[in-house]
Amino acid sequence: MTGYVHSFESLAAVDGDGLRYGVFLAGCPLRCAYCHNPDTWEMGAGQATEAEALARKISRYRPYFGENGGATFSGGEPLLQAEWLCEVAELLQKEGIGYVIDTSGGVPLTDAVKTLLSGAQSVLLDLKFPDEESYLRYTGRGMAQTLAVLDYLEEIGKTTRIRIVVIPEINDSEEALNAYLAHLRGKQCVSEVELLGFHTMGFHKYESLGIENKLSSTPALDPALKDRLQAFVNEQMK
Ligand code: SF4
Repeated sequence: MTGYVHSFESLAAVDGDGLRYGVFLAGCPLRCAYCHNPDTWEMGAGQATEAEALARKISRYRPYFGENGGATFSGGEPLLQAEWLCEVAELLQKEGIGYVIDTSGGVPLTDAVKTLLSGAQSVLLDLKFPDEESYLRYTGRGMAQTLAVLDYLEEIGKTTRIRIVVIPEINDSEEALNAYLAHLRGKQCVSEVELLGFHTMGFHKYESLGIENKLSSTPALDPALKDRLQAFVNEQMK
């Protein structure tokens, strides 16, 4: 099968445990207002790649992965190409190489998606907003699929790191974050809730792609505020 890959990032600054090889897949069903990778939205923007070719490319880094490392499939939305990615994952598993899935959860919970999630070393799941209205307003899609993915991860006991982007004047308060935590409290699969500060480093991509940037007048989040809110979240999730 052929999949579409946007870009790669080797062994540094890639999310997940250990040394990792990042594969950013093309295509995303969401349109998050704060997305800093709008260049990954269209699947056609990616490079057509056979599953075997991608698995071979990742395998070259096998000596560096050690016990906990492996590939991290990110995007875009990696689960949008779940069937193709299952093929890649199967080839990697034959080589003893694990993978992490970095997802918004904004896809139907198909058999291929379940296979990928259950075979992953761990999952990084973005919780974009705490309620349906905000999801629709800022991502263009509802939150039901993400919550279904979270429930599935709980059901199978998969280690899951939740990530929340904190945006000035939208959700940069304890009260706002509490609404997110209502979905997470008591979930045994959630190993960590990580806050990411909104930043403006992707703004130039909106300009060059001619896409409207809905947050063009929003400043980057103050790192000190992010640290304070992270401490609050950590305390709440104890
Ligand atoms: S899910 Fe990720 S890639 Fe897709 S629009 Fe949102 S931030 Fe961008």
